[in-house]
Amino acid sequence: MQEDQMLAFKAQRQRDKRIAQFKRNLLILAVIAIILPTLLCIYLFFKVNSLEDKLAALYKEGTAAVSQKRTDDNTVYASQDLKPDEVNAVENPSLNEQKTLNQETTGVQTPETNDSKKEKKIVYLTFDDGPSSNTKNILKVLKEHNVKATFFVVGNKYNSEEFEAMYKQIVEEGHTIGMHSYSHQYSTIYQSLDAFKEDLNLLQDYLNKTIGMSPAIYRFPGGSSNKVSDTKMEVFINYLKEKNLTYFDWNVSSGDAAGQNLSVEEIVNNTMEGVSKNQTSVVLMHDSEHLDSTVEALGKIIEQLKEQGIEILPIDQKTTPVQQLKAK
Ligand SMILES: [Zn+2]
Repeated sequence: MQEDQMLAFKAQRQRDKRIAQFKRNLLILAVIAIILPTLLCIYLFFKVNSLEDKLAALYKEGTAAVSQKRTDDNTVYASQDLKPDEVNAVENPSLNEQKTLNQETTGVQTPETNDSKKEKKIVYLTFDDGPSSNTKNILKVLKEHNVKATFFVVGNKYNSEEFEAMYKQIVEEGHTIGMHSYSHQYSTIYQSLDAFKEDLNLLQDYLNKTIGMSPAIYRFPGGSSNKVSDTKMEVFINYLKEKNLTYFDWNVSSGDAAGQNLSVEEIVNNTMEGVSKNQTSVVLMHDSEHLDSTVEALGKIIEQLKEQGIEILPIDQKTTPVQQLKAK
């Protein structure tokens, strides 16, 4: 009987031992399960931080590279002997051969250096798709703030005298006029090179007739990197190059386009946030009858840019083009 008790006691002690051992193992496992993820978190935190820094540095380099890119050096611009009201009009020299050309003083850009970060920031405000019933309002805001901008215009949509006067007013008030196709119908102009040429000729003829000159700058409807063209955009880019026309995309989008229905505040914020990332910004806005929000946002944008000491300029022959897609 005593032997039985002894055996039971022994068995009990061994069980206790095993339980204690099991508890110890469980504790060690728990500690490992807590410490390992914690260490991993700390490691990842520092890793993400350093990657973010690297990304920011790369982004800065990238934007600088975009703004440093120049079109072909053979691009020749009209020189300074323009009439005062045409100074900002960036005329096409091939259509104005009587004007003296001076590539040395106007076609060559000083490359940006690291010091440029300390230089004044520049913003080019650009308005696509006009003239419209809002052109007068946009011009009024620009005048009130003594700011010159750039209008990439289309053909006279309504074939009316009232709209015809708008092209003239844009030029007379010292703004730059660029081309944005005659019809603005993607399906037509991007159908083939011939269709593109025909559309361009229409706009050039119309502008020659209306404002007495043909602009040297062009903005592709949808931008050079649009995904709607059936024809390779390089075909059109090369054609513009042949014609000594420089195309401008944008590196800041205000987001004011008709379908997006952004509030005035959102348009202002988009623009200011975009501008904060670049030394030189080309801001995409629209001159369209339904976009009263653009007009309202414009005044606020100009005020904020001025508060930050940013210079607002119209595109001219010295402006480095921002181009999303480059022809090879
Ligand atoms: Zn457009």
